[in-house]
Amino acid sequence: MNPLDRHDRDAAIFAPEAFRLGEAEAALIAKARRFGQRVLSPRAAAHDRDATFPIENFRDMHGEGLLAICVPQEDGGLGASFRTYCLAAAELGRYCGATALSWNMHVCSTLWTGALADEVDMSAEERAAHNQRRRIHYRRIVEEGAIYSQPFSEGGAAAAGAAAFGTEARPVEDGFVINGKKIFASLSGAADYYGVLCTERNEGEAASRRNTLYLAIPADAPGVIVTGDWDPLGMRATVSRTLIFKDVFVPANAMLMPHGVYFRAATSWPHMFLTLSPTYMGLAQAAYDFTIAYLRGEAPGAGPTRRRMFPTKQIAVAEMHIMLEQTKALWFQAVSEARANPTKEQVLRAYAAQYTVMENANALAVKAIRTCGGQAMLKNLPLERIYRDSRCGSLMLPWTAEICVDRLGRETLYEPGEKDE
Ligand SMILES: Cc1cc2nc3c(=O)[nH]c(=O)nc-3n(C[C@H](O)[C@H](O)[C@H](O)COP(=O)(O)OP(=O)(O)OC[C@H]3O[C@@H](n4cnc5c(N)ncnc54)[C@H](O)[C@@H]3O)c2cc1C
Repeated sequence: MNPLDRHDRDAAIFAPEAFRLGEAEAALIAKARRFGQRVLSPRAAAHDRDATFPIENFRDMHGEGLLAICVPQEDGGLGASFRTYCLAAAELGRYCGATALSWNMHVCSTLWTGALADEVDMSAEERAAHNQRRRIHYRRIVEEGAIYSQPFSEGGAAAAGAAAFGTEARPVEDGFVINGKKIFASLSGAADYYGVLCTERNEGEAASRRNTLYLAIPADAPGVIVTGDWDPLGMRATVSRTLIFKDVFVPANAMLMPHGVYFRAATSWPHMFLTLSPTYMGLAQAAYDFTIAYLRGEAPGAGPTRRRMFPTKQIAVAEMHIMLEQTKALWFQAVSEARANPTKEQVLRAYAAQYTVMENANALAVKAIRTCGGQAMLKNLPLERIYRDSRCGSLMLPWTAEICVDRLGRETLYEPGEKDE
């Protein structure tokens, strides 16, 4: 059987009619699904094995317009909303988790500066300057296929939102000089621009989270160094090495958001941190899809032996089905209601959705391996890659599984400002 025949039978994770998707929204998500089946799936195993970045996937995404999925239409992009992006990203995650996760880092540079920033409070002057500057970034992406990444993590408390970033931008005439270090920088060595969060600080000034600056640093700027190796358990093709910035100069138009606006966005648009979850929603679906195909004797490369007649297998897939539907329902609600200034209930639901997707993606992969058995975890089949990739989700800041539980516990029991004696 031609492997593409099987792929063509994969149904949408969220059926447009059942989930009442708009026509344009459904078409864009279907486009992502077909791209994942046709382009990402056949290349995923080799990049995972060698821990190499799938740059050709990004070149092909440029050809399809997918690098500009969240660039506003008036700037030449596809103008996808937060939800449409999330649903499209889940479809890519099904076929190559590492590409979907890296693509997320790129897309956030346009989603956060685009649809999301449009809903964040700014003065008329700030907005005009922002709209002018973001056009520079959008043009690079739309016309030249430029790739942006999102290195925030530093190994301290900053990426969790608990402290100011240690990477600092010192204002100088016409721009900034950046010094610092980022760890786990997906797309390191592959991105054209690193979308860095740093603290804007003048000599002698105290570092403050309110002065977080979001800057696009060209990868080839003098003083940008990619260092360290990358040989992790999962998400190997993200190539998330360490970045060092040593007296790197960028001009003022490198600002992806005006002074202080990132802090406002992070507080008024908390769902912006839910954008790592679509990849793992896709992986959850992939673990389930594989199990069904394998037990039916239809998984490509696994031979035609059927195992579906055993009651224990049927119970296992029933449990997997229930877990997948629970995950989809909660996540769909959370990505559908993302907006500026959400209610407390909506924020708590976003934490619950993030936790559920990240934990259940791996739980489904674990169950898939136990149910399908030893032959199913050989490296010529995708399940063991799905298992390793899915393990990474709940570790990702700022909303790790632990942080979600921590906030849910506290915020369900305490209203803002409440304290015990
Ligand atoms: C495949 C992969 C790709 C990645 N790509 C990127 C990327 O492109 N850009 C980027 O910025 N980062 C990226 N990361 C990094 C990721 O978001 C984390 O920053 C990284 O895993 C840090 O791990 P750590 O163990 O050093 O975290 P630590 O900060 O040591 O935290 C360890 C654990 O302690 C808990 N914890 C931490 N802070 C708090 C707190 N304030 N309250 C309660 N609990 C807390 C969390 O559960 C956390 O998992 C990536 C990670 C992976 C695995």
